[in-house]
Amino acid sequence: MTDYFEVHGRDGAARLGELRLSDPLRTPALVDDSVDDAGSLWTDDRGIPKGYREILTVLPHRAFPAGTDERVQDTFAVDYPDVDYPNAVVVTPETAADHGADAYILSTATGFVGHASAFREEIIAAREALPADTALYLSGVATPRNAATLVYAGVDLLDAKRARIRGLEGFYLTAEDEFFLEDLDELPCSCPACRGKRIDMDPDDDGPTGAAAFDREDCADHNEYALKSELATVRRRIQDGRLRDYIEGQARHDQWLTAAFREFDQQYTYLEERTPVVRDTELAATNEDSLHRIEIQRFADRVTSRYRNRFSNPLVLVPCSATKPYSESQSHAQFHDAIQYRGHLVSMTSPIGIVPMELELTYPAQHYDTVVTGRWSEDEKAFVADILRQYLERNEYPRVIAHVPDEGYRDICERVAADVDVPFEYTVEDHPTTTDSIANLMSTLDGELKYGKRERQHNTVKAIADYQFGTGAGDDLFADVDLQTTSRYPKLQVRDGDRDAADGNNDGEQLATMVPQYGVLSLTLAGARVWGESAVPTKRVEIDEFVPHGSVLAPGVVNADEDIRVGDEVVVDGPRAFGVGRARMFGSEMVDSTRGEAVQVRHVEERDA
Ligand SMILES: [Zn+2]
Repeated sequence: MTDYFEVHGRDGAARLGELRLSDPLRTPALVDDSVDDAGSLWTDDRGIPKGYREILTVLPHRAFPAGTDERVQDTFAVDYPDVDYPNAVVVTPETAADHGADAYILSTATGFVGHASAFREEIIAAREALPADTALYLSGVATPRNAATLVYAGVDLLDAKRARIRGLEGFYLTAEDEFFLEDLDELPCSCPACRGKRIDMDPDDDGPTGAAAFDREDCADHNEYALKSELATVRRRIQDGRLRDYIEGQARHDQWLTAAFREFDQQYTYLEERTPVVRDTELAATNEDSLHRIEIQRFADRVTSRYRNRFSNPLVLVPCSATKPYSESQSHAQFHDAIQYRGHLVSMTSPIGIVPMELELTYPAQHYDTVVTGRWSEDEKAFVADILRQYLERNEYPRVIAHVPDEGYRDICERVAADVDVPFEYTVEDHPTTTDSIANLMSTLDGELKYGKRERQHNTVKAIADYQFGTGAGDDLFADVDLQTTSRYPKLQVRDGDRDAADGNNDGEQLATMVPQYGVLSLTLAGARVWGESAVPTKRVEIDEFVPHGSVLAPGVVNADEDIRVGDEVVVDGPRAFGVGRARMFGSEMVDSTRGEAVQVRHVEERDA
């Protein structure tokens, strides 16, 4: 139970929050001026501190050094009093549990920061044992360079202790580097500590400009300013859903940081649970680490394990375009004119892998931006080849037509062709959009049948349902429904012809609408009921005895499925209400949290008493 911390937004494991002191603090933040440590119980018997709304009080504690035997930790465990002011307790990864506090200080931090695998293990152990809506505080470890990665891992509160000590030792810290003060010719910063100072350690010499010398005390002040400024950048990045893009560049300045975020990439479950399924921000894929991003891995996983091709036409593989969605690019318009609904279009791309045409709007297929160098690295080739191979093992095609250029694409196709039964036919001469290539593509499809608009629209809706709701969902969800699609792509409406429409539409009652920005389905109440009655596992949020208006807050949640992710469609179900909406927290966070919005409710109806 926390009264004084609230999570307002998240980007993977990183959160934007608020430490609700009488003067609230936006987190992630430095808490140097806002913390009062009641002291260690090793050195003294201490009563329950008086506490104030103005500060975060660290309750009397017994800290254990890293590696202390668990039995010893048990023997000396502290019973934390229930206090009514903002409070933090000191824990180790072993003693981390719900102690009723607002924040938790990991006493082992100085031991594991700097060591990538220990850092990953201990942060994840702590974060998973602590209630989701409480703050995690690492003391005495933050520097301007490591702060972004600490927050990325799931840390909310930091302090400037280490940065200041390094300053007093003569180290000048920036977000990228660490310098001996003595080695600097000038100050590469204009913070209040650096502004108007000159870099000269001789205090008697005012120099030609008359500026005062920059001493170690100034250096400590600068380090703290640099850390604060870095955290402001990090908060902005989280708000924009773009912390990962930043980390991929920032972590490069220190080997252990690069190793640390790669360790987290290996820990798919921890980050996947915390990463939204849709975002409206662009995803910048700048280097090979981008291949390991959760959003990319999740898309690849769903395309190869959930999606199923429903067209009986040949597969036509084409290169992606810089323009998104692909179908709006000039090259794809040319491919389309040549194919004329006689082939199933699938785009090959790094770093996404492959994108069947029905999913070209689905996050992150139309949301990524990458530097097109025209050259594929071996990692990229292996990644895309692996996905294409799995895709072809799962989906049967009569023919595969590879309308791809030489660079990289052809190489990938040849690798995969060697492993699968269906033969590959190549149609590109020189470049995919030359007149010859387009003519080849067109004539290669001679004699193939066209699919109709209705088939295309139904298959699109079903493919999205597979992707969004799980393997087989596209068929199972609409198994007892007379499926009709109305309106124009990409704003298709899904209807059930067997039910009368409330709005008088002849095509039946509306079940869902396709959301063009994310390429997902958004359900109506009737759609939610169809989902509940179908064989497709429902993502259900069970609520208390009330009728939600606009949103369900976390305290009103009785239970929630563990596989709910931020951005998922969820059914809201309680004794007095039935509704549908979009998850704003992940499942276990909804159950754990005592504050914050759990579900944004789109439609709700009161149940008969
Ligand atoms: Zn400065």
